[in-house]
Amino acid sequence: MLKAVLFDMDGVLFDSMPNHAYAWSHAMTDFGLKMEPEEVYMNEGRTGHGTINILSNRYWGRNATDEEVQKIYDAKSALFNTLPEPQPMPGAMELLNKVRAQGMMRVIVTGSATHALLDRVNAAYPDIFLPELMVTAFDVKHGKPNPEPYLMGLKKANIQADEAIVVENAPLGVQAAHAAGIFTIAVNTGPLKDEVLKEAGADIVLPSMQYLADHWEEIVSIDNVQCIMYN
Ligand code: MG
Repeated sequence: MLKAVLFDMDGVLFDSMPNHAYAWSHAMTDFGLKMEPEEVYMNEGRTGHGTINILSNRYWGRNATDEEVQKIYDAKSALFNTLPEPQPMPGAMELLNKVRAQGMMRVIVTGSATHALLDRVNAAYPDIFLPELMVTAFDVKHGKPNPEPYLMGLKKANIQADEAIVVENAPLGVQAAHAAGIFTIAVNTGPLKDEVLKEAGADIVLPSMQYLADHWEEIVSIDNVQCIMYN
């Protein structure tokens, strides 16, 4: 029996990935590390440190120093903060209301490390989320694609993997959820091909949060599917 839905945040609850892609690719390029926006989407969910080292190894042949990591990450954050505030993802509120009406818990599992996260979430989605049912970068040792964030989400909700569903948009997030043994719905809200999400372990790949909201009842009644591609 389903007891909870675990939601990723960027690219699922908020349409924030275009801003992240812009800020990462511009900040990295300023430091001589050429990063295309698509690569930002491929690495979504990884820690800033991990992402920077992938590029520094490619272009410099070594890991970035802590000082370099800090400088690049600060430049990315500064640029990100000049961009317009990301809006709630279309369809997300509708879906959250359906989940709440069914009496299921709503859990956030994000790699984000923002202290103002709860305020932002509550402003966009009032009365949906509880602070004790949120997993952020502060709660875990290993970020996605490690299953730890999703296992922590299950622990906080006090449930088993087969009592939950995950909603994710990123390949590494899908990998993490799949590795935690949870049925994973991928919503493809970015530029990547559906196959990338399927190969990461998604049980279902859908085109948008609106699509998921519109077909929620039908989707949660499906059991034991292989991988369903809706596009
Ligand atoms: Mg995401």
